[in-house]
Amino acid sequence: MKQIQAYGTEDKNAKLKPLTIERRELLENDVDIDILFCGVCHSDIHSAHNDWGGTKYPLVPGHEIVGRVTKVGNAVKKYKEGDLVGVGCMVDSCQDCNSCAEDLEQYCENGMVGTYNGKDKHTGKQTFGGYSTSIVVKEEFVLSIPENLEIKAVAPLLCAGITSFSPLNHWKIKKGDKVGVIGLGGLGHMGIKFAHAMGAETIMITTSPNKAESAKDLGADSVLISTNGEDMTKQNGTFDFLLNTVPVKHDINPYIQLLKRDATMVLVGAIEPLEPMNGGQLILGRKRVAGSLIGGIKETQEMLDFCGKHNIVSDIEMIDMQEINTAFERVTSNDVKYRFVIDMKSLK
Ligand code: NAP
Ligand code: ZN
Repeated sequence: MKQIQAYGTEDKNAKLKPLTIERRELLENDVDIDILFCGVCHSDIHSAHNDWGGTKYPLVPGHEIVGRVTKVGNAVKKYKEGDLVGVGCMVDSCQDCNSCAEDLEQYCENGMVGTYNGKDKHTGKQTFGGYSTSIVVKEEFVLSIPENLEIKAVAPLLCAGITSFSPLNHWKIKKGDKVGVIGLGGLGHMGIKFAHAMGAETIMITTSPNKAESAKDLGADSVLISTNGEDMTKQNGTFDFLLNTVPVKHDINPYIQLLKRDATMVLVGAIEPLEPMNGGQLILGRKRVAGSLIGGIKETQEMLDFCGKHNIVSDIEMIDMQEINTAFERVTSNDVKYRFVIDMKSLK
């Protein structure tokens, strides 16, 4: 085991602080990565505060990791020292079940191993995330990063990017579709960029009128303020697809009303009970409410290649590791445009 520096928390009410953690020795299929940048996802905050239950402490968050390969195991074929690589929300899965066979490791029937707060299959110990100087990951869960992109702005693609790309891709969003993205945060701003790049008429649906101008700069054709009931009603029955990134319990009924017959709203944000849904809203228009979890490794690579081709990265604000507690507070109070990224030099 190798000891490295990290930032994490030992209790749901405690602030993040410097910790020393262990990384496993390199196995034959492993890649050792020197972490350059790590994005700050709202899920890091939910996990640190144990909002979903199940957090084990100490917790070292971080699943939007970009770095350079420093060493590879004897059997590694795809990567070599110096390669620019990424790691997202998963570092392992059974690679044997139906979901894994279909490149959907995020839905592994035996449970995927989270980049943090998971259980390492080799050591039996807890996994620690990217708020750290280096990470050891099995080759199959390492992504290749297009070298033409701005590296630090690539980090959020590993979670915010794939989580918004995957539903748009799965529901085959195409030119001419009217797509609404609900919530302009880390996931939402990537949803706007992807829906726009896929040719859809893209509408930002936000609670924050002050974000309207920047939503248009990101690629939104127009902006709908969800707290304005009259404007919402005017748009009822007009959307082909909605991507809902709202991170907390909320009333989804006004959004369902926006859908056309047979159209779908995909939830990616609120991993918790919602306000009661009116069944009539769905029944009377054969509408659907679905969910989606990140994306598989193959699809994540496709998303990164799509970004390389269309020159898409995240809009970011850089921070040092020592500023993480303020960053957590600012994400929670809806004050970031649109993703914090930690410069890991600050921890080395
Ligand atoms: P974020 O940066 O905080 O953005 C969330 C946005 O939702 C906010 O900017 C705000 O946008 C809107 N919002 C916040 N509170 C709201 C409320 N009470 N009612 C309506 N809108 C509200 O968060 P994020 O990093 O994008 O993550 C979003 C959620 O997705 C989190 O819960 C995260 O844990 C989850 N997540 C899920 C997956 C998955 O695989 N499904 C992956 C990653 C993250 P406006 O100001 O525009 O309204
Ligand atoms: Zn995330």
